[in-house]
Amino acid sequence: MREAGEAAALGIPAVLLFGVPADKDEEGSGAWDDEGIVQLATRAIKDAHPELLVIADLCLCEYTSHGHCGVLRDDGQVDNDQTLDLLARTAISQARAGADAIAPSDMMDGRVGHIRAALDDDGLTETPIIAYSAKFASAFYGPFRDAAESAPSHGDRRGYQMDPANGREAVREAVIDVDEGADIVMVKPALPYLDIVRRVRDAVPVPVAAYNVSGEYAMIKAAAGAGYLDERTAVLEALTSIRRAGADIVITYHAKDVAGWLRAEQ
Ligand SMILES: [Zn+2]
Repeated sequence: MREAGEAAALGIPAVLLFGVPADKDEEGSGAWDDEGIVQLATRAIKDAHPELLVIADLCLCEYTSHGHCGVLRDDGQVDNDQTLDLLARTAISQARAGADAIAPSDMMDGRVGHIRAALDDDGLTETPIIAYSAKFASAFYGPFRDAAESAPSHGDRRGYQMDPANGREAVREAVIDVDEGADIVMVKPALPYLDIVRRVRDAVPVPVAAYNVSGEYAMIKAAAGAGYLDERTAVLEALTSIRRAGADIVITYHAKDVAGWLRAEQ
């Protein structure tokens, strides 16, 4: 609530919520709990700051005891199709709580179409989907995973996240997500994947979001803290490069700093 209030006061248009529940289980049932952490936070923020857009990240990995993004089969692999139903349930619960947009980050095959159909069936036809379409298996998620306590307890997410070497697959996935009903597609991370941002921008008719992830943020913060970089100049240059590459929307942990700097200049 405090963070959201600060963001709203600075003129930041939207916040993206990730849940860190008190309890985790095998299925990640906290994700679709109507009294879950994201549902409660969404209601509270929309009550206090109706103009601030609340986007709900949709995945199970913050809620599962094993830290994977879906239900595990006996062989330890994620069961794609079983996971789709749980994601749809979660999307409906988040939208009913007042989320302005649902952002599936799980990378299961077919999830955008599945979630779209479930939202429509529930009368939530106006709730847009922001798809994490090109989410790479990246080393740059490290600081976030520590904060969200969501690192997988065994194995990794390479089975369902993208190979950093495979640019064509990223573009293909974005096109598929738009065909399935995504209203906005996302590339994540941003700075090591600016070429992907541009290629996706050129390939789809919908807005493209780029996620400037925690490791990208931490690198600049650490370098600035050590006196190697001027923080403000480096941040503005990095974010400008993301926009130049074609991102219509930038998701960044630098948001409050940047909003403050830009405001002071006016
Ligand atoms: Zn996940």
